[in-house]
Amino acid sequence: MPQNIRSIEYAVTLHAPQTQNVDICMRVRHITTPSIDLALPVWRTGRYSILNPAGTVHRVRAQQTTGQALGISKLDKTTWRVDTEGCTEIEVRYTVYANSLGDRTRHVDDTHAFLSGAAVFLYVPDRRDDSLSVRLEAPAHWKLACSLDALDGDPRTLQAPNYDVLIDSPIEIGVHEVLHFDVHGIPHEIVLWGAPIVDSEKLTRDFKAIVEKQSELFGGLPYKRYIFMIHVSAGAGGGTEHLNSTIIQVPPRTFEDDASYKRLMVTASHEMFHAWNVKRLRPAALARTDFARENYTDLLWFCEGTTAYYEQLILTRAGLTSDDELLLSLGELIQMVRRRPGSKVQSVAESSFDAWIKFNQPTSDDMNSTVSFYDSGALVSFLLDMELRSRTKNRVSLDTLMVEMFSRFPASGPGFATVDLIEVATQLSGSPFEEFFAKYVRSTEPYPLEECVGTVGLELMLDPAGSRAYTGIIAMDLNSASMVRYVLSDGPAYLAGVLGGDEIVACNGRRYSSVEMSSQVEQEMSPGDPIRLEVLRRGRQRTIEFALGSAPKGRWRLSRLPSPPAAQRAAYSNWLHHPWPLPKGEDGPKDQVRGK
Ligand SMILES: [Zn+2]
Repeated sequence: MPQNIRSIEYAVTLHAPQTQNVDICMRVRHITTPSIDLALPVWRTGRYSILNPAGTVHRVRAQQTTGQALGISKLDKTTWRVDTEGCTEIEVRYTVYANSLGDRTRHVDDTHAFLSGAAVFLYVPDRRDDSLSVRLEAPAHWKLACSLDALDGDPRTLQAPNYDVLIDSPIEIGVHEVLHFDVHGIPHEIVLWGAPIVDSEKLTRDFKAIVEKQSELFGGLPYKRYIFMIHVSAGAGGGTEHLNSTIIQVPPRTFEDDASYKRLMVTASHEMFHAWNVKRLRPAALARTDFARENYTDLLWFCEGTTAYYEQLILTRAGLTSDDELLLSLGELIQMVRRRPGSKVQSVAESSFDAWIKFNQPTSDDMNSTVSFYDSGALVSFLLDMELRSRTKNRVSLDTLMVEMFSRFPASGPGFATVDLIEVATQLSGSPFEEFFAKYVRSTEPYPLEECVGTVGLELMLDPAGSRAYTGIIAMDLNSASMVRYVLSDGPAYLAGVLGGDEIVACNGRRYSSVEMSSQVEQEMSPGDPIRLEVLRRGRQRTIEFALGSAPKGRWRLSRLPSPPAAQRAAYSNWLHHPWPLPKGEDGPKDQVRGK
């Protein structure tokens, strides 16, 4: 076979992108069987949810290379069978309707095409390791961005060593801007679709700082090229990690205000950390996945939560956020986890395993019965970091553990399990970690953060003390109506029968916005006071009365101890990669906001 011929080839034709339809022609060679099955994955990497992208595939037909039609039938929701009639080579043509921007799978319009392979390219289930190529026919002025290499210098034809790499290398082709920077001689690109780049120098400098800090942690970069793809679109948010690239979605205001811009930095830091954690250092269940069904792992708390812990830590180490911003954000995380009744119900291991049916299938009862493997996973990672530091006098940290795990469980291997994490933590620290994992990962024991944050010179306090009146209702305003989103099971509204989806039309005879109502309850009323709510449910009004409960008034705050011993200040410095800040008014570096 000539070198530029691949065993499976796709041709993607974008002749009418304004219709949001894309035509695919898949050529399969070396067939030796009377029939061949072709399928589309039911999920995509990075999102542990059944998406069934085959639902937007239509006009699937098969033919010989001479053009003569072949018989094709559907076996299940996502699999087709072609009668090959003795042909060793066939073509399968189909159309994909690509209007799914929010789940970052496929989106086509007159300005671009974003194609994440799992939602677009059929595969032959028993030939996932065949080499592949993808040729793109699109308007001539469109630019192509993809972490795959071009085939034989043809910039519009990409090659992949196998199907798994193909679908972990999303394609962005269209009208976009590109920025370039290098770290340790390795090229990086920032590709922006949907908006002009406002301050390209700052954006490049900040992304570079993030990559450099993460490279420093792991001792080098694990790829030979990396692309940050950014979609700027109203209402957009979130990101997905891929092997040598990431797709991040942000709203247009991102480049207009500091808080939104910082959220982009947090997401970029998160997705970049995944280049190691989950893309290469993988749980066994995600090392060789089954595209036809759910892939269960109890380690998403580590894949996502540990990554979420590092997303902020790296920004602070890189000087992109201040120490105080990090402490504030960790305090908010503690607040969120401790105030969630589900923290007493579901462990982070269970949350990980059931991601497919719970985390990604939200209900109004989630706060009461589940935890987020992102939030609780980040907090248990913080606890693990502090515990490792505390037990080893700061000789070992979560950094040490990450580096050791990355070296022991390479991407080419079978992946790791929780017992491996326990073993590595135990070996590195020289003290047993079984109980830690039994309590805080596999069970719902509260995280004893107060006891261990002192190791880096911090203290955790509820500030201010005292209690406040409490309903347990979390509401939000929608089209000027105050709509109940959650009713927490530790508040009185739960047993009184307030439900998610109720519209609160009046509280004690007055109409309030959701924010006004909660401040009215907290500031003007006391625990035990009666409250009367008028709610609209399924078009009918009803009155619900109950006595207000009680909840702690303050919020959890993490702060530096006034004057910790030198060892704790040194540990703090090791944690954040810069010295313990001197009090204001003294000489020396102040709390850092370097805004690099
Ligand atoms: Zn993630």
